[in-house]
Amino acid sequence: MINIIFSEEYKNHDTGNHPEAIKRIEVVNNLIKEEYSKHNLIEPTIAKKQMISLVHDVEYVNYIFDSISTSGFTYFDPDTIACPNSLNSYLLAVGGSVDAVNYIINNENNGVFFCAHRPPGHHAESNKAMGFGVFNNVAISAQYALNTGKFKKILIVDFDVHHGNGTQHIFENNPNIYYASSHQYPYYPGTGSLDEVGVGNIFNCPLPSDCDTSTFRSLFRKNIVDKIDTKFDLIYFSAGFDAHKLDPLASINLEDDDFYWVTKIILEKFANNVPIISVLEGGYDMKGLYHGLNNHLKALVEYSDE
Ligand SMILES: [Zn+2]
Repeated sequence: MINIIFSEEYKNHDTGNHPEAIKRIEVVNNLIKEEYSKHNLIEPTIAKKQMISLVHDVEYVNYIFDSISTSGFTYFDPDTIACPNSLNSYLLAVGGSVDAVNYIINNENNGVFFCAHRPPGHHAESNKAMGFGVFNNVAISAQYALNTGKFKKILIVDFDVHHGNGTQHIFENNPNIYYASSHQYPYYPGTGSLDEVGVGNIFNCPLPSDCDTSTFRSLFRKNIVDKIDTKFDLIYFSAGFDAHKLDPLASINLEDDDFYWVTKIILEKFANNVPIISVLEGGYDMKGLYHGLNNHLKALVEYSDE
């Protein structure tokens, strides 16, 4: 049994004619209803400014709250668009990611969570909206978890096809939060080379354009699984599905079951009774998103049943 934090509210974050569109959450919610309705379905709560400010500058948080227009679209950068209802989605996505930590601490659930949120957050920097996202959901949740004192070492595994520049920058000087990312490189956002190592806590796995399953698996093993030799007491996935071969935003050719493989290999090496929080990032082909996510969730369900 896993816990799925999701809401119909994300359908009100209208980005117009944009790849990070409402239909993404419709596909995800359909998958949850079709295949995971027997799992524990939970509504997210709204995050407060103070929570967001754990990793974002207060001035930036105030700027986001104050600048969303009451009509039409607001552009935080050329890729990052808000409608009048978007703030609610931003706050629920942060809130749900943090709720998972509280459920784990309070032992109210068995410790495997998937947060079906939009927009993605891993490009959001401490003081800047970027790449469809405004607040860095995973980074806020991980910082909150560390601050509780209940977790000593936290691992974030990001298999979205884009490098999570925001997450890396927020934690690159924090030896207690490790960030490991596989991503097409060189590509948007430009960061994520092998020699960006932080304080020994950053593990990048650049993937060449047109990379197939076998190249992906051998590079992921070499640069992430075999390189990290630390015990963690909380593991996050920044779960993006845009490395799927059908995805229009990148040129990595992963199959559906690569998302099962990548989840499984992390869980097998690093998760021995360790709580898991997986948070949705990208994925812009609707079939790729549906089947990639289904494979990721299957691996989470198997782990939770062990
Ligand atoms: Zn992405």
